[in-house]
Amino acid sequence: MQIVTSLPDLRTARLSLTGRVGLVPTMGYLHEGHLSLVRQSQAECDHTIVTIFVNPTQFGANEDLSKYPRDLERDLSLLRPLGVDVVWTPSPEIMYPPGYQTWVEVEALTHPLEGAMRPGHFRGVTTVVAKLFNATQPHKAYFGQKDAQQAAVIRRMAVDLNFPLEVVVCPTTREADGLAMSSRNKYLNEAERKAATVLFRALSAAKDLYEGGERDAEKIRAKMTEVLEAEPLAQMQYVSCADYDTLEELDVVKGKALLSMAVFLGKTRLIDNFVLG
Ligand code: AMP
Repeated sequence: MQIVTSLPDLRTARLSLTGRVGLVPTMGYLHEGHLSLVRQSQAECDHTIVTIFVNPTQFGANEDLSKYPRDLERDLSLLRPLGVDVVWTPSPEIMYPPGYQTWVEVEALTHPLEGAMRPGHFRGVTTVVAKLFNATQPHKAYFGQKDAQQAAVIRRMAVDLNFPLEVVVCPTTREADGLAMSSRNKYLNEAERKAATVLFRALSAAKDLYEGGERDAEKIRAKMTEVLEAEPLAQMQYVSCADYDTLEELDVVKGKALLSMAVFLGKTRLIDNFVLG
């Protein structure tokens, strides 16, 4: 496993890879969700590059950039046994040279949901991912359904900017009790960790309602709200039942829909989603 930091070293490592290359971009503090993306890349590509970079430009002023969990040695020890070819750990100075002023922005898709709650977040995400694509030149890039809007936005960007690669979206990996794996789960205390299953419970209740024939999106949103409000440690930020492609809120569920939510457990903000139809 080649571990590189500088851009010239990354370029040299990339040139040594022949055949199809898969990219798995991460912010580190790896868990089984990240590793499932790595495994899918390895199953579909000849070589896999994992990037570890806590991207400052996707964090808002009041968010958890300085506290975001980091443990490079642990991350590398999880990647080594998988047989990853290259791990790139660029510094902020490499990604954002002094005087930096170039941004990639996707429009309408970034306006609702996470984009509405986290102004500037997706501008940071699309900018850094475009730079990772440029530097690593992958044939396929792997993202998690856990961050459904992010996956949709990156897919849009890749098409719009003619990146010659395929964006692959992998299923959400969950703990045994349904909690979606996330580096941020580390912040939860014992009581919050128990209460955090409320996201999965709310999504499951809404899905049950849908599978029972309900198509009124407001009733589906109300069900998720009801379950979340019954959990005293949870503070709902939003629930959504939106069109899968446009992410616009629905009145009536027809075709594919995205159920999604953001919920605070204490100071920790968690997101999760299910796809309907
Ligand atoms: P992050 O390190 O949180 O930026 O995540 C890196 C990639 O892993 C993103 O494409 C995420 O969507 C994906 N990911 C994070 N958590 C999960 C999960 N529980 N299941 C599947 N993919 C995930």
